[in-house]
Amino acid sequence: MKKKIVIIGGGIAGLSTGIYALKAGYDAAIYEKNALAGGECMGWNRKGYHIDNCIHWLTGTDPKTDLWQVWKTMGAIDEQTEYVDEGKFYTSILNGQALTLWNDLERTRQELTAFAPEDKDAIDLFIQHVEYAKTCVIPAKKPLDMMGIRDYIEMGKEMADMPKVMKTFGKINMEDFGKMFKNPLLSTMMTDYLCYNYTAYSFLVSYATMAAGNGKIPVGGSLAMTNRIIKRFREMGGELHVNAPVERILTEKAGRSDRAAGIVLTDGTVVRADEVISAVDTGFLFGKLLDKKYLPAQYQKAYADQKSYPTFSGFQAAFAVDSDFAGEGTIVFDCEPLQIGSNSFSRMSVKNFAYEPSFAPEGKAVLQTNVTQQDEDFAFWKSLDEHAYAQTKERLAGELEKRIVAQFPSLAGRIELLDCWTPRTYERYCNAYHGAYMSFITTKGTKQLRAKGELKNLKNFYLAGQWIMCPGGLPIAAVSGKFAIQRILKREGRPVEI
Ligand SMILES: Cc1cc2nc3c(=O)[nH]c(=O)nc-3n(C[C@H](O)[C@H](O)[C@H](O)COP(=O)(O)OP(=O)(O)OC[C@H]3O[C@@H](n4cnc5c(N)ncnc54)[C@H](O)[C@@H]3O)c2cc1C
Repeated sequence: MKKKIVIIGGGIAGLSTGIYALKAGYDAAIYEKNALAGGECMGWNRKGYHIDNCIHWLTGTDPKTDLWQVWKTMGAIDEQTEYVDEGKFYTSILNGQALTLWNDLERTRQELTAFAPEDKDAIDLFIQHVEYAKTCVIPAKKPLDMMGIRDYIEMGKEMADMPKVMKTFGKINMEDFGKMFKNPLLSTMMTDYLCYNYTAYSFLVSYATMAAGNGKIPVGGSLAMTNRIIKRFREMGGELHVNAPVERILTEKAGRSDRAAGIVLTDGTVVRADEVISAVDTGFLFGKLLDKKYLPAQYQKAYADQKSYPTFSGFQAAFAVDSDFAGEGTIVFDCEPLQIGSNSFSRMSVKNFAYEPSFAPEGKAVLQTNVTQQDEDFAFWKSLDEHAYAQTKERLAGELEKRIVAQFPSLAGRIELLDCWTPRTYERYCNAYHGAYMSFITTKGTKQLRAKGELKNLKNFYLAGQWIMCPGGLPIAAVSGKFAIQRILKREGRPVEI
């Protein structure tokens, strides 16, 4: 009889786990609390429009990478996939002047240098290191701790230029990085995308991923991709149980240790299994589904030290606009200061989804804005009662709308709020720790969290999900599912190459 693997959570990590479990010859059943699987890689409809929640870029769209192979196995993308071609990372505007980080690095270099010749050296250093960072790939063949000398040599060759990036940008954060540029627009632009406390190399790697053509947006967006993955899982024979929240993990004594024996749903149903894999947020897992005694020391440290291990989320709003709105892609601009959560901000961004005509009725487009929120902002949103929460959201969405119109006056009278949501939304929908939609921010001087995916004192139990490795995101979620299955294969003495 086939071994039964039960997976908790049907986000990208849970689906990946299920697909790789089936590929390895196991039975796989996913239990997802929501009516739809997909977790944070989601989209929803409002007033005849589609709001895309996730993919700004999908790392692993270059067919030469191992990660592409993982996405292909999952049914997410393949050789026929079409991508949106925005040609740029984003545009920043300050005091009416605009600059763009193009995917064409030479074009970026020339435009930035012509605009701010005083920053020539810093621009050259930046562009050179983005070029180096193109070699950065996410290891997707097997978990790092299962790699041998040969794997490390291969990885070292592949990422030959990454040590140079880490040497120059691995010990400074975004705030320090912005100060490398004298010109106010350049300095602002460099810090427009990531939180100030992120290590600067993260930004270079993000830009390099796009510039290398390894971070594109599949046509149809997040929901369409999620649905392709669900289809693959079902076609392979996987069981997907939706509206099936898990209440706890069954544990039993197994000699001197414990073992996971199955799960209990909130309706009392008991599902026994040979192996249990959690693909839910670890902040929710430990203390809710599993006793805190199983919490590994490195997570304990991270959850206790918010300054070294901060997280971020967003206050977001989606608007309907006329499709002749001129701004393309993502644009960040200065605005009248506004207090959202515990912090005041004076920069905001809009992303124009006009590139996806299927997201809006003819002649219309969706414009989304996202204001970064950190742990203290989450505490603010949580402190509001239901009434105050709804009122605050509506009021702030109105304030954002005013600021968008102030920046783009042609939108006056031609913009309508579709929906707005907060870090609390992600907590409610996905049980996301502090409403975060990536894992812990990698701060300077802090050891990155990298979990082994198994617990010392609980057998037959494995971890998947974006929280097993910083900085999280879709690629980590995807490979974590594969890795969890490889750990079981290794334990059984079977080949781990799947
Ligand atoms: C606005 C936004 C933009 C983003 N942009 C990008 C991007 O451009 N590129 C990128 O790589 N990443 C991006 N991300 C991050 C990406 O969406 C996440 O990293 C990824 O989807 C996480 O997948 P996961 O499976 O690890 O976790 P989740 O998606 O959180 O999945 C966990 C699942 O477990 C379920 N669950 C929770 N508790 C239970 C329970 N008790 N019982 C059963 N099920 C349960 C949840 O409902 C959920 O479906 C973005 C995220 C957001 C929100």
